[in-house]
Amino acid sequence: MLVVMQAQATEEQVRAVCQKIELLGYRAHSMPGAQRTAIGITGNRGEVESGTLEEMPGVQEVIRVTKPYKLVSRDTKPDNTVIKFAGSPVTIGGRDLAIIAGPCGIESRDQAFTVAERVARAGAQFFRGGAYKPRTSPYSFQGLGEEGLRIMAEIRDRFGLLVVTEAVDYESLELVDQYADMIQIGARNMQNFSLLKRAGRARKPVLLKRGISATLEEFLMAAEYIMSEGNYNIVLCERGVRTFADHTRNTLDLSIVPAVQRLSHLPIIVDPSHGTGKRNKVTPLSRAAVAVGADGLIVEVHHDPDRALSDGMQSLFPDQFDALMEQVRQIAAVLGRSIPAAAPVRSEIAKAAD
Ligand code: PEP
Ligand code: MN
Repeated sequence: MLVVMQAQATEEQVRAVCQKIELLGYRAHSMPGAQRTAIGITGNRGEVESGTLEEMPGVQEVIRVTKPYKLVSRDTKPDNTVIKFAGSPVTIGGRDLAIIAGPCGIESRDQAFTVAERVARAGAQFFRGGAYKPRTSPYSFQGLGEEGLRIMAEIRDRFGLLVVTEAVDYESLELVDQYADMIQIGARNMQNFSLLKRAGRARKPVLLKRGISATLEEFLMAAEYIMSEGNYNIVLCERGVRTFADHTRNTLDLSIVPAVQRLSHLPIIVDPSHGTGKRNKVTPLSRAAVAVGADGLIVEVHHDPDRALSDGMQSLFPDQFDALMEQVRQIAAVLGRSIPAAAPVRSEIAKAAD
């Protein structure tokens, strides 16, 4: 059920409706929009008796939501969600495209700093890198754990980049929530429902990657799990699905971008690195992703990909990432979107002030 408030409803009236919903034993999710506030009701098993709510001051109508997802739906919130980050002007889902770049895994301080410096100069606003790596083989590099998170926090201070990294379980999620600016939930965990609920109780925005064989509805339901626990700051990410095609690692499903945008108010970005698995396909598919209307990109970059401990084959050289940025800037402009100019690296600002 969804309570749609009148455009001129006061905050007090919204609060009173939320209290009433909670009194009835349900959970109220107030979603302010550009035109009006809607209040999603979750926790109900059957139909909510809508009469009492309909009569309350400020209420326009109470509607039944027939889709399985409620809070992620545009029915609940018609205008796009724009994700904000504490203490930063960077957003995801607005006019600016979000560019996230960095190595697959944090391998050492030197490696991470070398790549971070290049992606910051090229204009990425976010640095990515796994401290906990979900690997097919238990004998492959598993990540540096908390040490990797500390390196990422240092990178934030040094380069002024926001940092994004994956949490693979409860324990790592708690740490990632402390150290990072955005918590990544990987493709393999997209239907780890207890982890999704835990992410729903975290403070930071969540980057939710599409499962390896997830349908659009399953993908949106995973986001619904997070939102149902009260975290409304979610960025969806298409990263390719498994098909019969073997010329790429996965098949990047760019058609899901407009499909998601039709149904949901949440932003969606594209990962052309895992989506193709091949370095020579990352730039063309990045161009296509921006053209199709994605809200950003997440791209793997490594200064020495032949020696990378994971995903070297799909990692761009920094020079290639520079070229990618130049190309996608031009495509973004055609769509009336932009990629902010690279901010001066913080350490340089400090030097200039000396
Ligand atoms: C990653 O981004 O490093 C990653 C492991 O991605 P995915 O979960 O999409 O495979
Ligand atoms: Mn990777």
